[in-house]
Amino acid sequence: MEMLTLSLEGKVAFVTGGSRGIGRAIVTRLAAQGADVAFTYKQNEEAANSVLEQVESLGRRCVCFRADVSVREQAEGAIEETVRKLGRLDILVNNAGITRDALLLRMSDERWEEVIQVNLTGAFYCSRAASKHMLKNRWGRIINITSVVAISGNAGQANYAAAKAGLIGLTKSLAKELGSRGITVNAIAPGFIKTEMTESLPEEMKVKVLSQTILGRFGEPDEVANVVAFIASEAASFITGQVITVDGGLTL
Ligand code: NAD
Repeated sequence: MEMLTLSLEGKVAFVTGGSRGIGRAIVTRLAAQGADVAFTYKQNEEAANSVLEQVESLGRRCVCFRADVSVREQAEGAIEETVRKLGRLDILVNNAGITRDALLLRMSDERWEEVIQVNLTGAFYCSRAASKHMLKNRWGRIINITSVVAISGNAGQANYAAAKAGLIGLTKSLAKELGSRGITVNAIAPGFIKTEMTESLPEEMKVKVLSQTILGRFGEPDEVANVVAFIASEAASFITGQVITVDGGLTL
């Protein structure tokens, strides 16, 4: 029997929002498994450069782009540049995401639109541009980072939950469209993970989430990245159109 292969050697991955949090953990995990990695970031050049150095220290090629995925030209431009510089594109991870929480009556059009545009439309732009290259290779992996709130809903996050639920519909539809060409499309739904996004949440909310999490702790970015690496690998070749929850039992 052959060894189970999680190696990504020879593959090129593109990760949106890779300068911090879960995205950073994904970039470095994919590189550790052998992939060359391109990633986007929105603002912090210093953080992006430190991720780039970390990938290069693993002996992999890395490029990063300051690009807003919610702007079509920037999303598409970063993907084309990746193929030009790294030669191919095999794995897309739509990780960039934002929250702009408010209860319904206080939810402005801007909050609604910004969250849909970044979390959902950004993933659409990147998937469309990346799939072109994957179709040519007859191999590809699209991995969308959704959230458990897409499934369970969350008061104060109608915009975010709607965008993340939209990502699940996108995932399943693209899985059906692209499957016959060797491309799998899956979503990963994290629960509460320790990052800058969750750091600023009210203390009472953290206590409540913690009390409902079966494993009795919050998750680490690496615990999401490990699942991304598995889904990206040859070992996950028969998994498509799925939503994989990584939440320590929060939604059990
Ligand atoms: P984070 O805020 O720490 O990082 C988000 C990343 O997205 C940053 O690198 C940021 O630069 C990038 N980004 C934001 N807007 C962008 C834009 N318009 N264009 C390009 N990049 C942009 O958040 P995180 O906690 O690491 O979350 C990563 C993903 O995981 C998000 O999609 C988030 O919704 C999802 N998620 C997080 C949790 C959690 O508990 N932290 C839970 C469920 C889902």
